[in-house]
Amino acid sequence: MNTSACLILMLSLTISATYPIKAQERTTGKSLKEGLFQLNEIDLHVHAGKERPLPLNEWIDLFARDGRKVILLLDHLELYRMDDKEHKEWIKENNFNDWYPKTTTGKYDFIKEMSTVESRNDVLTFRGWEIWEGEFEEGLEKPPMKEAEVIGWHMSKAAWNGKAPVGKELIFRARQIVGIQKEFPVPMIIFHPFIGRIKAVREAAAKSGRNLSSIKKEEYRYFTPTEQKELIEILNGSSIYIEISRGWSTLWSDPVVREAFIEDIRPLAEGGVKFTVSTDAHGTSSFDESYNPELYCKDLRITPEDVNTIIRELLAIRAKRNLR
Ligand SMILES: [Zn+2]
Ligand SMILES: [Zn+2]
Repeated sequence: MNTSACLILMLSLTISATYPIKAQERTTGKSLKEGLFQLNEIDLHVHAGKERPLPLNEWIDLFARDGRKVILLLDHLELYRMDDKEHKEWIKENNFNDWYPKTTTGKYDFIKEMSTVESRNDVLTFRGWEIWEGEFEEGLEKPPMKEAEVIGWHMSKAAWNGKAPVGKELIFRARQIVGIQKEFPVPMIIFHPFIGRIKAVREAAAKSGRNLSSIKKEEYRYFTPTEQKELIEILNGSSIYIEISRGWSTLWSDPVVREAFIEDIRPLAEGGVKFTVSTDAHGTSSFDESYNPELYCKDLRITPEDVNTIIRELLAIRAKRNLR
């Protein structure tokens, strides 16, 4: 073997030892770039209803100008249950524009307006609802759910007696979502399930007088390996996605949180669970921060291919509905 062949062999051995082939394939992907939206072009959680600061097209313009090409427009369904008096007071209190003044039809007026922007040719928009997970116990309001192309489930400690949900609770919810999806066959997303846990661990530490830097990786962990396996079994190949919202940008700078989160998420991504990325934008202050999901997705092994899965599925559903 000549020297240069030997060098190449040594180099390739070093590379394959450093980067396992499977992980490297997942990171680079094989899809045509032309057929993929890049991560920062995708925002699958934008509040575009009652709290919207601008007329709809102007609100979308801001996202388009910031590079977005695919947007899921939604609102909290619970905001459409106020009676006239409550609604008027709420609008006044929060200094909102009264985009949907008729409380009896507001939720349908919202959905209808969202479909008017589907003809835009600079961004691809979908419409949906964000529904509080506690409604699984308290009762779901089903008629407006039929109007959604996507349903996102808002995870929060409010549904768990004030305790931030972790792996066990998420698995319980994922099974319920599998069940309800039989009745509402649209892609569903588990919204922001993880950040509440990090905050709760930090709050508990602060309360007991501990320095935040003393928190160990194990304390932040969300899943046990058995739970990861169970969740992969439930979600792999399904149309249920997990959201990684922009809230991670700030947490990412903490190396302990980052390490714990990589251990929690990477096995899921490698096991076939699919994710979405988003800003969860409620107002114009969302544009004070940059949007760079690549920052955290790369180490989590969440690829553009993974995040394009839901977009491809939504496009296929829409195309199929338009066939006669
Ligand atoms: Zn939410
Ligand atoms: Zn939201």
